Amino acid sequence: MKTVLTAVMLVFSSLSGLTAAPRVVTDILPVQALVQQVLGDLGRVDVLVGQGGEPHEFALRPSQARALASADLVVQIGPALTPWLNRALPRLAPDASVVSLLDLPETTRLTLRTGPVFNGDSAATAVDPHAWLDPENALVWLDAIRKALSQADPDNADTYSANAAAAKATIETLKTQINAMVQPIRQVRFMVDHDAFQYFENRFGLHALASISDTEATTPGAARIRTLGQVLAAAPVACLFVEAGANQTLAQSLVAGTPTKIVEIDPLGSFLDHASYADLLLDLAQAIANCE
Ligand SMILES: [Zn+2]
Repeated sequence: MKTVLTAVMLVFSSLSGLTAAPRVVTDILPVQALVQQVLGDLGRVDVLVGQGGEPHEFALRPSQARALASADLVVQIGPALTPWLNRALPRLAPDASVVSLLDLPETTRLTLRTGPVFNGDSAATAVDPHAWLDPENALVWLDAIRKALSQADPDNADTYSANAAAAKATIETLKTQINAMVQPIRQVRFMVDHDAFQYFENRFGLHALASISDTEATTPGAARIRTLGQVLAAAPVACLFVEAGANQTLAQSLVAGTPTKIVEIDPLGSFLDHASYADLLLDLAQAIANCE
């Protein structure tokens, strides 16, 4: 009898070692990429705002609501980027642990800039949510992701630690690469269509002059457009960076008759196929370097 019990217990304990990895749902592609690196081959991380999606305004599909309902862990930038998701979480994912990356104490947070012209005297106090474009934040977040996955699935904690360490090493190399890539355009005058790049600028010594729309991507009014026209006319602006996939009608009409060229950049990795976080930032740096 005792032998049988032991045998049964052995079967159960080996089965529990085979428990499925945590089911993780993320908000945007860069966060999905980071979590996927830590989860590795143990599972596939879901993303809500996938390719071509727009995080500032978004509607959940029924399949995504179901994914949230069965999630063990939700990793998101936070309510500043996706208030719609944060509102839905208590109802749609009542049992999931939620990690809000922007709210971690170690995260570098910058306050919103008030445009259209960035002259450093912003009166805003709210946090700019586009914090994934700072690789120092990615390093901090990899640790938080490792911790959350290990808590949900202690059996695989060693794997999560090794994967997170490898991902962090890649990001250290990435920082050096990007510094070299953007070096030639540190003195170049440029504008952006949507104020999403402050974290990247801050980390790599770039400075946008102005932005067509603010960080929440609202449509600019007539006064703002007039001011932008004055900026473009005052001194040559090399580039206007426009988010890939965005409507360029307004950007085109603003730069008409000026030497400013429109360059597409992709801060969400919307047009990359299963890109890693490093690929996403390198793609962005390359596009910015193209302004030279
Ligand atoms: Zn944005």
